[in-house]
Amino acid sequence: MKAVQYLTVGRAPEVVEIPVPEPGPGQVLLKVTAAGLCHSDLAVMGWPAEQFPYPLPLTLGHEGVGTVAALGRGAGGVAEGDEVAVYGPWGCGRCRVCAEGRENCCPHAPALGIMPPGLGSPGALAEYMLVDSPRHLVPLNGLDPVQAAPLTDAGLTPYHALSRSLPKLVPGSTAVVIGVGGLGHLTVQLLRALTPARVIALDVNKEKLELAGTVGAHETLLSDSGAATRVRALTGGVGAQAVLDFVGVEATLAVAAASVATGGDVTVVGIGGGTLAVGFGGGLPFEVSACAPYWGSVPELFDVVELARQGLVSCHVETFSLEEAPLAYERLHAGEITGRAVVLPHG
Ligand code: NAD
Ligand code: ZN
Ligand code: ZN
Repeated sequence: MKAVQYLTVGRAPEVVEIPVPEPGPGQVLLKVTAAGLCHSDLAVMGWPAEQFPYPLPLTLGHEGVGTVAALGRGAGGVAEGDEVAVYGPWGCGRCRVCAEGRENCCPHAPALGIMPPGLGSPGALAEYMLVDSPRHLVPLNGLDPVQAAPLTDAGLTPYHALSRSLPKLVPGSTAVVIGVGGLGHLTVQLLRALTPARVIALDVNKEKLELAGTVGAHETLLSDSGAATRVRALTGGVGAQAVLDFVGVEATLAVAAASVATGGDVTVVGIGGGTLAVGFGGGLPFEVSACAPYWGSVPELFDVVELARQGLVSCHVETFSLEEAPLAYERLHAGEITGRAVVLPHG
C-alpha cells in the first residue's frame, strides 16, 4: 500500500510503498477514507534530530476516518464495513482517567510508550491503518468522512479547549479566537453553536479572516500589536471572557494577556513555544485562569460528530490525493490552506 512517511529529520515527507499491516490481537484494521493534515505535523517535522521523540520512518496523519476492513483476534464491538472516526490520544485504557474517556490525560501512556497514530504510531496518511483497540473508534452515523476526519482533532481540540469557559460565555460576553486556520475556523462555529458570546477572530491573513466572518465571527481583526486595544474598545474596556490562542507565540500571548477580562480564561492551544507568566501582578488581570489543553476526550469526540451531523459545524475542506500530500504540507506551511487539507487515500 501507499503511505506518506517522514523518513529523515529535516527532509520533506515522501510517498512510499509498504505492506498492508495485519491486525494483531485486539486491533482493528481500517481502510482509510479520509485523513486531515494538522499544523502540528509541521511542528513535528521542524524538531531537531537530537530531540526527535518518535521512531522513524513515521507514517504521518493523526486525523483519520475509515471503514473497518479486518478485526484482530478478540477485537469486537465493530463489524467489517462500519464507518468510524479514530480517536487519537490513546491512553492505557485501564486507569481511572481512561475509564472516564479522558485518554488524552492518561498519566500512564508516556511510560508505557503508547503514542497516537501519526505521532509515534503509524498514522492515517496511508491506504490502511491499524487502531490498537475498538474503544478508539467513534461511529460516523452517516456523517461524510471528508467532514469527519478534521473533527478528530481540529474539531475535538477546540471543543475540549472551550468547554471550561462555557459558564463564563453568558449573554453579553465576548470570546476572542486568535488564528482562524483549521482549528480556529471550527472554534468560531463551536462558539456560535454553543454560546451567545460575541466572537472576535484575529489572524494575519486576509482570506482566513474572510472565512472566519463567513462561518460566524461577529468581528474580524488583523492580529498585530494594536489588536488588544481594539478588543478592549469593542468590549467597552472590559475585555474578553475567553481568549483562545491557536498560535501560541510570544506576540499572540501578549495580545491574549492584554485582551482578557478580569476573571476570564486564556487558553493556549497553539504550540508556538511562547509562554505566559502567571503570578500576582504578573501582567494578567485578577482571577484570570490560564490553561494549555491537549486534544480532547472520547465522549467529546462523540459530541463533535453529533454537532456536525446536525449541521451546526462544518469544516471548510480542500481535498488532495495521497500522492499530493507532500505538496499539501508545503501549502499548509506557506499559509495557503484555508480551512483544512484532507487527503483521500483511495481517491
Ligand atoms: P493552521 O495553520 O491551519 O492555522 C493557524 C492560523 O494561525 C493560520 O490561519 C495563520 O494565518 C494564523 N496565524 C499565524 N500567525 C498568526 C498571528 N501572529 N496572529 C494571528 N494568527 C496567526 O493550524 P492548525 O492546524 O489550526 O493548528 C493551530 C495550532 O494548534 C498549531 O500550533 C497546532 O500545532 C496546534 N494544535 C494544538 C493541539 C493541542 O492539543 N494543544 C491540537 C491540534 C493543534
Ligand atoms: Zn493535530
Ligand atoms: Zn490510562
